[in-house]
Amino acid sequence: MNRTFGSGILPGVEHNEIEIVQHGAAYWVGDGFPVRNIFPSNNLGSKISPFLMLDYAGPAHFEPSSKPRGVEEHPHRGFETVTIAYQGSVAHRDSTGASGVIAPGDVQWMTAASGVVHEEMHDPEFTARGGEFEMIQLWVNLPRAVKMSPPKYQTLTSAQIPVVPFGAQGFLRIIAGEYEGNKGAATTFTPIGLFDIEMQAGDRDTLQLNPAFNNALFLRNGDALLNGTVALAGEAKLAALPQGLSSITIEAKTAVKIVVLSGEAIHEPVAQRGPFVMNTREELAQAFRDYQEGRMGRLRPRHA
Ligand code: MN
Repeated sequence: MNRTFGSGILPGVEHNEIEIVQHGAAYWVGDGFPVRNIFPSNNLGSKISPFLMLDYAGPAHFEPSSKPRGVEEHPHRGFETVTIAYQGSVAHRDSTGASGVIAPGDVQWMTAASGVVHEEMHDPEFTARGGEFEMIQLWVNLPRAVKMSPPKYQTLTSAQIPVVPFGAQGFLRIIAGEYEGNKGAATTFTPIGLFDIEMQAGDRDTLQLNPAFNNALFLRNGDALLNGTVALAGEAKLAALPQGLSSITIEAKTAVKIVVLSGEAIHEPVAQRGPFVMNTREELAQAFRDYQEGRMGRLRPRHA
């Protein structure tokens, strides 16, 4: 294991090491998203605050179909859902009347906050054509002060997301946060860095990290070596990085695709049940009542 971090903690102490975790539970979300859950089913707990959940959908091949595929009407309150499309397109519709499609490379940053009812489907055109499908959905917690603020969407198209070189042939996309003075596309409520990295075999570079944040590397696929010693190889794995780390070297043995999750922890109690993430059980009960009684709105029926 790697023991070279200058965090002031004695070498060899458990949380001073890079921890490689396999994906946890695998299941279908609706009939459109065959996911491998990366956390929380791996018990990383608050180590990864403000991030609550990471689902990796696909890569999977879908045959052409005339039947809509995805996840039907459901609510969210108290946090944000971030969807990154890599292959295939996702269409959403919600109770505020908003709707849209995100294509490969695009990101939808949905702030559910006080409450949204929505559906997430494959784009009808993709459903009809079929093909490879790959995306991630990340849940980001909101602090108490803004959990009940109005919901909003940020649709970040691929063209709006700044890209900087990483490694000799690779790149780093700044979805949110800042990297080496370059500002990302998304607006966030707490300090967060969310980056896509792609490298080619033989590429090597040093990723700068904020040592005050929780930091993790999610491997979509490829074979990489971290700090010259720790293998991050295969697919759907997470490297949870020790606290206090200010940089990490990534060496690509093959083509590598990594998502960097970085954020300041929210030090508040988390009360979560299904699609609601609040601070107390009373607030959860209120969320269920508000949804059932229609106070988060409803979706209009889908039209032919
Ligand atoms: Mn949803």
